[in-house]
Amino acid sequence: MSDIKSNLEIIKEKIDIAAKKSGRTGSDITIIAVTKTIDVSRINELISYGINNIGENKAQELRDKYPQIDSSANCHFIGHLQSNKIKYIIDKVKLIHSVDSEQLAYKINEAAKKHDKIIDILLQVNIADDKNKFGLSYKDVEPLLCKLSHLTNIRVKGLMTIVPFDEEPENNRLYFRNIKQLAVDINKQNIDNISMEFLSMGMTNDYEIAIEEGSNMVRIGTGIFGARNYNK
Ligand SMILES: *Cc1c(COP(=O)(O)O)cnc(C)c1O
Repeated sequence: MSDIKSNLEIIKEKIDIAAKKSGRTGSDITIIAVTKTIDVSRINELISYGINNIGENKAQELRDKYPQIDSSANCHFIGHLQSNKIKYIIDKVKLIHSVDSEQLAYKINEAAKKHDKIIDILLQVNIADDKNKFGLSYKDVEPLLCKLSHLTNIRVKGLMTIVPFDEEPENNRLYFRNIKQLAVDINKQNIDNISMEFLSMGMTNDYEIAIEEGSNMVRIGTGIFGARNYNK
């Protein structure tokens, strides 16, 4: 069996176990296979095993690989997005996970309007107030949602977070729990145009903990494809 296929089977089993701990099943969790630096042939191999959501974190890389990626897969944008690069991805992505400012949200809305599209987005929350990471601080999320609520061509569908790397992922459990709580609080307010359908949290190192705490979208790269080679 190929490495990708066997890695995927192991991950699916672990996802199922973690989902059951939170009263769900593996089918409630969407796997976003993170394909940055990965060749299209390996991406398409993965898609042939039934994964149909892939995530890229660089706008040009997504643009360049997109034509060769099996069209049965949805592309997600998960990296920091500069306004001037929205145009590379706006007509290609199913969901932008990484909206971290009012200005960026407005620019995406304008670009979507030009393409006659409505784009689903998540707000990225810097839950650990990590200076090296992008994202809104916890307290800025709700005020921003109220401002975005009237925009016609974006729809906020949830929250995304990247927690600090920790050898012991258990140490990050509270961050995941806090994001879930924030989503629950936001939902109670019934803000127009805003739903908390998706919580995109958990990566190779910590997806099981994230799922136990309520994540329903995990972004997994290394766990599926092995270590990345950035030098190619
Ligand atoms: C690279 C990346 C991931 C996946 O990381 P792994 O540790 O390889 O699973 C997830 N989310 C974002 C935003 C990334 O850039």
